[in-house]
Amino acid sequence: MDHGAAYVLNALTSAGYEAYLVGGCVRDAVLERPIKDIDIATSALPEQVMACFPRTAPTGLQHGTVTVILEQGTYEVTTFRKEAQYEGFRRPASVEYISDLTEDLRRRDFTMNAMAMDIAGTVIDPFGGQKDLDLGMLRCVGAAEERFGEDALRMLRCIRFASTYNLEVEAKTWQALLEQAPLLRHIAIERVRSELERMIEGPAPARAVRLLLASRLMAHLKKQLPLPFEMWLAHDDALDAVSALSGQQTRWALLLMFLETPADTVRTALQELTFSRADTDAVVAVLSLREWLAAQLTVGGGDPRDAALETADPATLARVWKLGAVRRGEAAARMLLQVLRALPQQHTEARGELARFRQTVVPLLVRHAETWLSEIPCLSLKELAITGADVTEALDEKPGPWMGVLLQQLLERVALGELRNDRQTLLHAARDASK
Ligand code: ATP
Ligand code: MG
Repeated sequence: MDHGAAYVLNALTSAGYEAYLVGGCVRDAVLERPIKDIDIATSALPEQVMACFPRTAPTGLQHGTVTVILEQGTYEVTTFRKEAQYEGFRRPASVEYISDLTEDLRRRDFTMNAMAMDIAGTVIDPFGGQKDLDLGMLRCVGAAEERFGEDALRMLRCIRFASTYNLEVEAKTWQALLEQAPLLRHIAIERVRSELERMIEGPAPARAVRLLLASRLMAHLKKQLPLPFEMWLAHDDALDAVSALSGQQTRWALLLMFLETPADTVRTALQELTFSRADTDAVVAVLSLREWLAAQLTVGGGDPRDAALETADPATLARVWKLGAVRRGEAAARMLLQVLRALPQQHTEARGELARFRQTVVPLLVRHAETWLSEIPCLSLKELAITGADVTEALDEKPGPWMGVLLQQLLERVALGELRNDRQTLLHAARDASK
């Protein structure tokens, strides 16, 4: 057992209280997985806990939690409690301290999270968590309809644990989840986002997506999002590719690409979901680059979905790709390439614009885009051999928005190999352009 945790348990039991490791750390210990945060439950009241240790912080006194600060780390110690009457389908209205460990374990969400371990390492498991883990089963403690009704966030935790721990959801638990799914609308969107992020960054994002679709939970968010999640079904053949990608942003980029929704709309939705600015910008840049490439390669009028992407010959594609990389940035280009490489190469059953893009453009990009990128002598204005000041001086003009436009034009011509990236050439071209 972790030294600090053993010290805390020892201090509390020596003072005459009961104390156990509880929750996720016991589950992970039983599964012989790495342990993240250590939670301790005790019969001692918060003030009694504080009296046992020289350094503590009252981090969650309203629900009975004191953080014990040791050199080895910090440990959350929570008094055994019962949760009386839940309010708003999320938080209990009040907590009641109790003296019985089993009652404290009873309020927990799933049997595998309702185990305790004493200082000797003995597992206390009144709800059969170990048996369920052996069966590979995720099961609510008690009556599942009630447990999801008390706190609707548990439904997303259910899908997160089922996917990250590779468990089957027990039949009654799943049935209850399907019935209570509409209650998700009571849950704050940032809690939802945090669970979604943990599912997608976990070891089985494709499984999480399939469970989310089967549960219909995403139809019951507090805010209606303009995202057609059912499109994931249309790209089911490629969902597993998400697991092959490393990194949150690339995984979201691929998942959101499957929705075939304009990048601007995706930006609004990610903002509504309270994704970080950095993640939103990175993911949207990738989607918007792909959208732009597809638009450039689409010929003829009418419905762009009917237009022939097949006309993408390598020379045209090279040009469009280089321009796209310079306009949307190298980071977006490289991330898009990573995402496209993860897609299965065989023909897809899916229909529509993205499917055609996969069949015609993606194989060429996968083969050549890296080389095309390396052929670009200069990918950003910073690397251009002249600055705005050089241009204003050479043309004897006042700075203004025209300057950025001109520099971008020069950069694009350099990227396409039409101009060399040297001062003389660029100043000459700037003078020509301004005539
Ligand atoms: P992880 O930290 O990997 O998400 P965890 O099980 O430790 O998993 P925490 O959110 O840290 O999850 O919660 C610690 C414990 O508190 C859980 O194991 C569970 O016993 C209990 N718990 C947490 N959230 C809930 C909830 N919404 N309903 C019931 N019990 C919960
Ligand atoms: Mg935890």
